[in-house]
Order: sequence, then C-alpha cells, then structure tokens
Amino acid sequence: MSTSTSIAAAGAHPGPAHPFADTPAEPSRDCPRCPRLAAFREEWRAKEPAWHNAPVPSLLPPGGPDDVRLLVVGLAPGLRGANRTGRPFTGDYAGDLLYATLTRFGFANGRFAARPDDGLELIGAAITNSVRCVPPENKPVGAEINACRPFLTGTIDRLPNLAAVVTLGKIAHDSTIRTLGGRLAAHPFRHAGATDLAGLRIFSSYHCSRYNTNTGRLTTEMFEAVFAEVAAFLK
Ligand code: SF4
Repeated sequence: MSTSTSIAAAGAHPGPAHPFADTPAEPSRDCPRCPRLAAFREEWRAKEPAWHNAPVPSLLPPGGPDDVRLLVVGLAPGLRGANRTGRPFTGDYAGDLLYATLTRFGFANGRFAARPDDGLELIGAAITNSVRCVPPENKPVGAEINACRPFLTGTIDRLPNLAAVVTLGKIAHDSTIRTLGGRLAAHPFRHAGATDLAGLRIFSSYHCSRYNTNTGRLTTEMFEAVFAEVAAFLK
C-alpha cells in the first residue's frame, strides 16, 4: 500500500501520490544505488570485517510496525556507531542523548549500553535514518539523500498508526517533508518547530550529535523540550 493510500485509509489528508510508493522499507545489504557509499562500505568491510558495514535497518518496538506512533528520523549511521553495531544511534555519542531522552519520556525501556544486545526496547516508537549507509565525514551528498528517500517512504508506509515524526537536523527534516509530498518553503526546518503534513505532526530538532551538544547549539534541556511536546501531543 502506498504512503498516500495508507494515510488516506487512516482518515487523514492523503497528500500527493508518491513515485516511490512500492519501494520496500529496507534496502538490501549490498544496495548499489549510491556508488560512493557502496565503495566506502566495501572499504570498511575489508578493514573491519566484524562490523555491520551495510545499510542500517530501522529499529522497531517488539510489537512491530502496528505499535509505532512516533518515528524518529536521523541523518545517517556514524562510522563507529550504527555502521559498526548495526542498530541506529548505537555506539556513538548521539545515541546516549537520544535513548536517554526517549526513555525519560516513555518511548523506550531498559538500560541503554550502546550495544545492540543491551536489551533496550522502544515503546510505541521507531528510529530510522534518511540515509541508510555511512557517508564519509558524515556528509551525504544530495544525490545520495534522494537515492535513499524511497526507503524512508517505505518505512513510513508500513506504519499504519503513525501520528508523529521527530526529524533530527535539516537534512532529515527536508527529506521527510519531501517524502510526504510537502514543499520545503511551506514546512521549513527550525529547531523546536512543528508542522502538520499528510495527517502527521512533524516535530523538528537540531541533531543530537556530539558536535551540536559540545558547541551548545543543542542542550539536553532543548532536546527534552522537543520530546515533551511530542509526548503531550501523543497523549
Ligand atoms: S544510502 Fe540508501 S540508497 Fe544509498 S546505497 Fe545505501 S541503502 Fe542504498
């Protein structure tokens, strides 16, 4: 079922038809759409054969897609974070703040120990990335963001009870808006912003990267304030 169709079935604004509607939610391990990222993946498979070194799948709650009301959309796997461990936001700094905040507001349960086997579980929430493969220097180019967008579409499309999205950073925000058929001029990124599109409330935040927190661009309080809004909306 396409994104527009499933949202329409939920009684929300259907939005325009999407050209990538039939794309699956998860890319194959050797997805070839981005030659630069595929080559980078191969380079790291040779250097670190025990690492994940592949597109990082979305993390869902134990109950599966039907239980998801909140989707968190990040930028891309970190080289020594999700690209190493295979779980979004796991193994580098950004996950410490994200999972602590999700837990604080009831969207996760358990003890986050930066390992996929730490037992942490999401509650009513899922986490994905706009770009599924690690980009050099954490910087995907526009063509790679566009190439991976069909998987974001496929991810949203399989969440029939989705009500809210938190986008982390401008790239994730813009890709989400485009996925939902919106115009960026009508739904611009701003920290702590919220906008309604295709039956969903889109909340946006600066990315919880170490750089943003070290420079004070994003504080724990600012990040928690965004999730407080989300929790209130989903009540
Ligand atoms: S970033 Fe996405 S589209 Fe590009 S190679 Fe990886 S999985 Fe495929």
